[in-house]
Amino acid sequence: MKIVGTDAPEVERALTAGKLACPGCAGRLRPWGHARVRVVRHRDEEERRRPRRSQCGRCALTHVLLPEDCLLRRRDAVAVIGAALTAKAAGHGHRRIAHDFGRLAATVRNWLRRFAIAAVTIRSFFTVLAHDLDPMLGPLSPAPSDFADAVEAIASAAWAAVGRLGPRPPWSFASACSGGRLLSNTSCPYPGAA
Ligand SMILES: [Zn+2]
Repeated sequence: MKIVGTDAPEVERALTAGKLACPGCAGRLRPWGHARVRVVRHRDEEERRRPRRSQCGRCALTHVLLPEDCLLRRRDAVAVIGAALTAKAAGHGHRRIAHDFGRLAATVRNWLRRFAIAAVTIRSFFTVLAHDLDPMLGPLSPAPSDFADAVEAIASAAWAAVGRLGPRPPWSFASACSGGRLLSNTSCPYPGAA
């Protein structure tokens, strides 16, 4: 799996031109058919997508290209999940968030738990990133919890990235920076800033 931008024609051009790097080695990806159709759930509607697959010309592994408005193995768009995380950071409980977003309480609780487990790592990674992107940025003000600190650090880094690189939805930025693994348990969730 490789995280890519949300502009499908641009991604296709880059893929065809051999400009996408393999996430596992120094090789270049080339087109390799499509993955199965998947449903992406936005806040109020569903979208059917058929993600592009690619194969590395060097290690021969195949990688599905996942647009950065999603996360690995999550049906809900990262903007929806991010809004839920922001609501939790503001003090809302998972049942209320689930009700407000029209999602199952168990689904929302799972997002919040996964994020909470990695909150300290996430806070640390995005705080460093925010200061790398904006050296003039002052210290981030501490929030009431590690969870809220982590959400704040993502917001600060995303805001700094907009100032440096141009407009981009903050949670898409967070997905790209985490390689789509913002809610995943992995020893190395952050391959680097995208
Ligand atoms: Zn490779």
